[in-house]
Amino acid sequence: MSVKVRFAPSPTGKLHVGNVRTALVNWLFAKGQGGKFVLRIDDTDLARSTPEFEQGIEDDLSWLGLVWDERYNQSKRFDRYEEASARLKAAGRLYPCYETGDELDRRRKVQLARGLPPIYDRAALELTEADRAALEAEGRKPHWRFKLEGKRVAWEDLSRGHAEVDTASMSDPVLIREDGLFLYTLPSVVDDIDMAITHVIRGEDHVTNTGAQIEIFEALGATVPGFAHMPLLVGADGQALSKRLGSLSIAEMRDQGYEPIAITSHLGRIGTSDPLEVAESVEALGNSFAFSKMGRSPARYDTADLDRLNAQALHAMPYDTAKPRLDALGVDLGEAFWTGVQGNLQTFGDVAEMARIVQGPVVPVIEDAAFAGAALAVLPQAIDADAWSVWTTAVKEATGAKGKALFMPLRLILTGQAHGPDMATIVPLIGRDRIASRLKGETA
Ligand code: GLU
Repeated sequence: MSVKVRFAPSPTGKLHVGNVRTALVNWLFAKGQGGKFVLRIDDTDLARSTPEFEQGIEDDLSWLGLVWDERYNQSKRFDRYEEASARLKAAGRLYPCYETGDELDRRRKVQLARGLPPIYDRAALELTEADRAALEAEGRKPHWRFKLEGKRVAWEDLSRGHAEVDTASMSDPVLIREDGLFLYTLPSVVDDIDMAITHVIRGEDHVTNTGAQIEIFEALGATVPGFAHMPLLVGADGQALSKRLGSLSIAEMRDQGYEPIAITSHLGRIGTSDPLEVAESVEALGNSFAFSKMGRSPARYDTADLDRLNAQALHAMPYDTAKPRLDALGVDLGEAFWTGVQGNLQTFGDVAEMARIVQGPVVPVIEDAAFAGAALAVLPQAIDADAWSVWTTAVKEATGAKGKALFMPLRLILTGQAHGPDMATIVPLIGRDRIASRLKGETA
């Protein structure tokens, strides 16, 4: 059986780390199995879906390297949902209801007061043709509920192991709203059938939908796919991330300078037994992915880990990969520059500051003019790879300064800052003329 999975976002907001993790795990699973990844845009809610959000989803997935093999919009498939609902109606599994929200609320309160579970009482099933005609004459429009069998629905969850839902304890779900809108539950199943989806991989917040959806697959005479419900993300503090997800959009992370491979390595490996290290590529991540490595405890999303992986990705980035981006920033100072400074980058954009330290202008910070003068007097003629060690030995002899008292003043003079790249690497890049000027206190 060849694997086919889907990522099914609603284009009603920006992608955030939570739904990107779902996209990623689907993609990794598909690629690891030599299968296909489908992008399905769940835009049945035409009022809330926008083309901008849809475009944003495509941009974010492409940027992360999560290329899709097939792509669909639910809004173009209403005829398929009509057809499926007609079949369910004919089979007596989809029935019209006329209660208003207020009526349902009142009934729920009465049930709760009597100590009964607040599930829909199926009163609408008792309506006669004449009752329905009378309600419609009043101007009421039906919403449609799926009649659950009320049984134990079980599945072997790739992530959770054996899972069971008792559909007798659930209200018959509304599949079609009174304004005719298909809610998510039915279109998702119809698409999974039509698109031959073999595995539905999503967050564990969907476990409750799965019982009803399995019954719908069965009612439509289809093979039930496999399921995996992943533990949800929690923050570094162990609290659910759901409320904060809005501020963790991928678009924003891209603007903040995160590398796609850092994001995918982080989201693909948290909550698994793999070490939290940056992967060589998202394909390599796919080859090592397995649900068996995923624990049942929530996955901890910690920005400190992401920052570490981001730095790791930059430290490992070959010059050839960096070059076009250096060019775009106008700071391609050659391979020696890149290999010299990459170990100091937290985000790629930091390279501009490194280039400024090399090319200037740097305002030197001179705390002791006599020390600067002495250092200038012994500055080697050739500023080569050994220059830093030769020079600092000579300055030490000339001034008697050693350790921090030797190195810090030189760093402050040459870079204008107390922290920064390795001096031995950067000094040949700065070059003798600029070093001499800075030692004289000139901005260079
Ligand atoms: N559009 C649904 C969501 O974003 C899809 C859920 C599913 O994967 O079945 O929650």
